[in-house]
Formats: sequence, C-alpha cells, structure tokens
Amino acid sequence: MQGNLKIYNTLSRKKEVFKPINPQHVGMYVCGPTVYGDAHLGHARPAVTFDLLFRYLTHLKYKVRYVRNITDVGHLENDADEGEDKVQKKARLEQLEPMEIVQRYTNSYHENMRQLNVLSPSIEPRASGHIIEQIAQVKLILRNGFAYEVNGSVYFDVEAYSKKHHYGILSGRVIEDMVASTRVLEGQDEKRKSYDFALWKKAGKEHIMRWPSPWGEGFPGWHIECSAMSLKYLGGHFDIHGGGMDLLFPHHECEIAQSVASNGTPPAARWMHNNMITINGQKMGKSLGNFITLDDLFNGSHKLLVQAYSPMTIRFFILQAHYRSTLDFSNEALQASEKGLERLFGAIKILSHVKSAGQSTFSVAEIEKKCYHALNDDLNSPVLISHLFECVRLINLMKEGKESLTATELSDFIKLLYLFVFELLGLNEQKAEVEESVQNSLIDLILNLRLSARKNNDFQLSDHIRDELAKLGFEIKDTKQGSEWTKK
Ligand code: ZN
Repeated sequence: MQGNLKIYNTLSRKKEVFKPINPQHVGMYVCGPTVYGDAHLGHARPAVTFDLLFRYLTHLKYKVRYVRNITDVGHLENDADEGEDKVQKKARLEQLEPMEIVQRYTNSYHENMRQLNVLSPSIEPRASGHIIEQIAQVKLILRNGFAYEVNGSVYFDVEAYSKKHHYGILSGRVIEDMVASTRVLEGQDEKRKSYDFALWKKAGKEHIMRWPSPWGEGFPGWHIECSAMSLKYLGGHFDIHGGGMDLLFPHHECEIAQSVASNGTPPAARWMHNNMITINGQKMGKSLGNFITLDDLFNGSHKLLVQAYSPMTIRFFILQAHYRSTLDFSNEALQASEKGLERLFGAIKILSHVKSAGQSTFSVAEIEKKCYHALNDDLNSPVLISHLFECVRLINLMKEGKESLTATELSDFIKLLYLFVFELLGLNEQKAEVEESVQNSLIDLILNLRLSARKNNDFQLSDHIRDELAKLGFEIKDTKQGSEWTKK
C-alpha cells in the first residue's frame, strides 16, 4: 500500500528511491538555528519540512535518529570568517553572558517549535559542547594536508583539496567563479586564497567565547561543528543531511570538504534543501522592515500583519507548498490557509456525525493509495492536501446522503484522515474531535456486531455487549431499525 519513497537528492540532482544504508535505521542530520534572536519564518520552514520527513520515515517503521544542532558559537556576522560572533554581539548589546543569550533563545525556539507541533529531534547537540571533537577534526584535516595554520588560526586549503577532490560537488560552483564572488574582507590577507575558509580562529583580546587549542586560544569556524557533531552521532556516512537552501553554499559545501578531508568520506548519501520564504515577494531582512518573528505572527503584532495567525495556520501554510518551491507570505495567502484549515477540520467534525450505510459509493483504499503516492513523490504535501480536500468534498456529500460508506469503510476513512492530517502533516488543533469521531465509529461497529448476534438469537452475547458498554457509560436503546446509543 505504502509504495516507495522517492527523495530529491541535491547531490545527484534527481529524485531517487530512498534506501537507507542500514535497512532498519535512518540517520538524519539537519542544521538547526543559530540562537541569538527570536525564531522567525525562516526557521519555521526547515523545521516543518524535516518534521514531515521525520514523521513519515517513522510511520514507514524506520528507526530514525534525527540530529538537529544548536549553533551557539562560531557563527560570525554576515556568515563570514571575519566580524563579531552573532551570539557574543547580542550578549554585549544586552550586557549578558553569551550563554544566557543562548539559553534564552534556545528556550523560545523550543516553545515556538512546540506551538508548531514540530517533534523534538532525537539528539540536539550544541556546538560549544563539542569543542574537543571539532579540534580533533581540524587536526586530522591539517595532518592530511588540506589546511594550514597562520598566526593561531587554521584555514581550509581549497586549492590543495581541489587537486584530489571535487570542491563544488554540491553547489555546482567552480573555483574561478568563487574568486569573483568572495567578498574582500579585512584580515583576508591571513588566508592564502579568498575562498579558503576558517576551521579555527584565534580569539582576539575582546573575544569572550574562547577555548584552548594546539594553535592557542580561539574558537571554531562555523562549518566544522556540523561535520564534528554528525560524525559523532551518526558516523562517517549517514543517510540524509538537510537544511535550508541558503546553507547549500558555503556551509554544506564546506561540510562535505571537511568530512572528505578528515576521514575520506562525504558525510551524507543524500542532501535535501528546503527553498526560501519571501514576504510580499521580497527577501526577508531586518533592514527591509519585513522581518517577522513567529511570536509576531502568533499574536499579530507586526505592522505588516492585519491579524494574528495561529501556529497551525502557519504550519498548514508551509505544507501547502512543496518544500523545494519558494513560498511567499502575504496576509491574503495566510487568510486563505486559515479558511482552508477550517474547512478541513470542519469536515472532520461532520464526519463524526455521519452514519454508516449498507454500501459504499466510493473507495477509501483508492484515496489512501493517492495520499501515499503524494508523500512518496518527494514529500509532495500540496498534492496530499488536494486529496484531503477531495475527502472534504466527499464528507459534505455524505452529510447530504449523496455518498455513503459501510461501517468498516467509514472507520477506515476516519483512520485515513487521522493518519494524514494529524499524524503525518502534524496538524493537531482539533485532535480531540477526531478522537471522538473514531470512538463513535467504533461504537457503531460494536453495535453492528451486537445486531448480528441478535439476528442469530445469541442474546447472551448481545446482552453482554450492552452491559459492558453501559459500564463504559454508553446507554443502548434498541429500536425497530437496530439500536441507538447515547453517552452518559
Ligand atoms: Zn550545519
């Protein structure tokens, strides 16, 4: 029934049937947030995308080890090798310890993820807790001749690496283009080439977050943490590495180079990237005045918002686009999502009052096949959602008596909606009502069995069922047509 999951691999640039390295286990690493400010839309998209994948792989009975890191050191301003550490800068401005900033924004990120019904990863390692592992990996890269030390800092030697390996394998960039696109920054003269990148940086006098190393006191470069932590928790070669498309270059390209340069293997068999979010067609940025945090969205406090949007509306909105397409936020689009979600939940509510019939007029198994097919096609959530809206249409027709399902198929139909809406898409607001509707359909099923018992003159069984249901608070009244029940 479930079929084969196909995933688009950024590395091979095509959709491939998903086959894990170890048949039962899946290792998955996703680059998490740099915690120096409130989580925003840009954080919600990868979180929801890989949550859908995590939920689906788990549903397919894989044992998934999902590692999503917290970057709390080494991510410098402008994602460059020079400038202030983002966490440290925030700490300086607020006169707090860097780790107070890290704790505050890790907590608020977790709260936002809980609101969005994003499941916790299996492991959430912090960069600052893995300095020893990062230093060990830098030492290996140096020993293998793919890095050089200058004045207490260590840089990756892209040219030396390129002689033996393919730097640009993921992004498709070639070194000549990189020369042109790398910005010239102060202190650049330390590097041999502008496209070399920092593995370890010497800490200046003013730098608070610093650790001892073989090269003096310093701190790790931004890219090395993910190589070191994925190696530690998932091994040298694992199934899936994910993140936002903005990380594809240089971050992920550098991760591959670091892993190959230190232990001879690229870290992941496949790479997945979610596309970016725009706001009213524009890139989101603090300087553009369109920087909307998740808290802003949930309470409608940003000037660009005409109302508040519930976390489930945001989650639904993200899932209404395929993860590899760009997604444009606007009030109109969000209001449409809000209405769509209401219709979906409304129909599920109606379903709890729909009675089964003697025959089915449509096939639940057929719908189920289509739903699995959509998810198997590179997690095509918008197509899945369109099938769910076909269910909404059928439910409304069932209410009018124009479509019908037998008790067994009605129960399958409810289970299908439960699985795809709540368990896999993770839309959870009205879960209690569906639980009620599952319960209703189970009672109907039991009463049908009781009816058969009565027809066969098995009154002992029939009375037993009635008494047991009464103990659970269900009152059964026999009528000419069959039986009715009420809950006390
Ligand atoms: Zn990363």
